[in-house]
Amino acid sequence: MREYIEKDFDAMLGMLEELVNIDSGSYNKEGIDQVGHVLKNKYEELGYLITEKEIQSFGNNLVIRHKEAVKPEILIVAHMDTVFPEGTAKERPFTIADGKAYGPGVIDMKSSLVMLYFSLKALIENNISGYENVEIVLNSDEEIGTESSRELIENAAEDKKCVLVLEPAREDGSIVSARRGMGYYSLKVKGKGAHSGIDPESGISAIEELAHKIIDLQALSEPEENLNVNVGLIKGGTSVNTVAPAAEAEIDVRISTVNQGKIIDEKIKKIGSKTTIKGTILDLTGGINRPPMEFNEGVQTLVKIIQHEGKKLGLDIKHTATGGGSDASFTAAMNVPTVDGMGPVGGKQHSKDEYLLVDSFKERTILFINVLKYLSKPTK
Ligand SMILES: [Zn+2]
Repeated sequence: MREYIEKDFDAMLGMLEELVNIDSGSYNKEGIDQVGHVLKNKYEELGYLITEKEIQSFGNNLVIRHKEAVKPEILIVAHMDTVFPEGTAKERPFTIADGKAYGPGVIDMKSSLVMLYFSLKALIENNISGYENVEIVLNSDEEIGTESSRELIENAAEDKKCVLVLEPAREDGSIVSARRGMGYYSLKVKGKGAHSGIDPESGISAIEELAHKIIDLQALSEPEENLNVNVGLIKGGTSVNTVAPAAEAEIDVRISTVNQGKIIDEKIKKIGSKTTIKGTILDLTGGINRPPMEFNEGVQTLVKIIQHEGKKLGLDIKHTATGGGSDASFTAAMNVPTVDGMGPVGGKQHSKDEYLLVDSFKERTILFINVLKYLSKPTK
């Protein structure tokens, strides 16, 4: 397999360059659909059938199966969107320097898209079972919460034996075996505006009310339990000499168990239902939107298989838990063994310094091929 991938490696880098140089931020439908188009054509060449799920305001989602697929056992999830605005690819296009590749989305996760395609191509061209044992969901809105594609992913996961999610490996090469869940809330406060010099008594300060709520919300964090509530954004007021008529906060929540999520949701809703400053009105929206991915027995077995295949390639694959959410959380919550971080190794994602370790691009592709091969071996 190594020889085969060595031979294809220039083509892999070429396709990566092509994809990185297409801006495909989550709100850029045109760009995401363009990425989808490139992939669609490629997959069709290999005999895959593509179902394009048309989405009006976001990029289309793709579901891909080989024409020989009967009842694929493995679900593979990867996203086509990035966090970068239009113009980024022009500003800092794909480059390679000192063994690292750069460019918007290079590690999160355009290299994973390329890795996946070439893995399946390798299986097909070497006549190895596995290529027909997968169903692939390429979605368009992972970076903004997977609203348009969550159901698609969950439906696809329903009858699968396992799920492999192609977020990048951690900087030290670890795959991801557990993830914290996430929640998002918005709290809007309405008060009453008034001139702070002439007529302050007739005003009701939304900012003052929000200040109380911020203190209460922040106090919900329990770091020792891996539970975090962060009021990360606030705004309010109209001018310095006006009693603030409105204010709002956005709140990020991280949980490590499903139960924790239920309890914290109740607590936040309680805070959002009771005012401290008389006359203000609260409007709380949001909820837990990504369940945690717990490290259970099914995940452990899958991790062992990946580690074993890694060992055969001389790779010591570690696994780790992370605070960030991903689409892995959805399938893990359905109790389908899910491992994430199956993409190449790199780091600094979501920043201009995002990079891919070029060597790992090759290594992780070979590993991925072998994992698919192992998982598709007939069990006797
Ligand atoms: Zn990602």
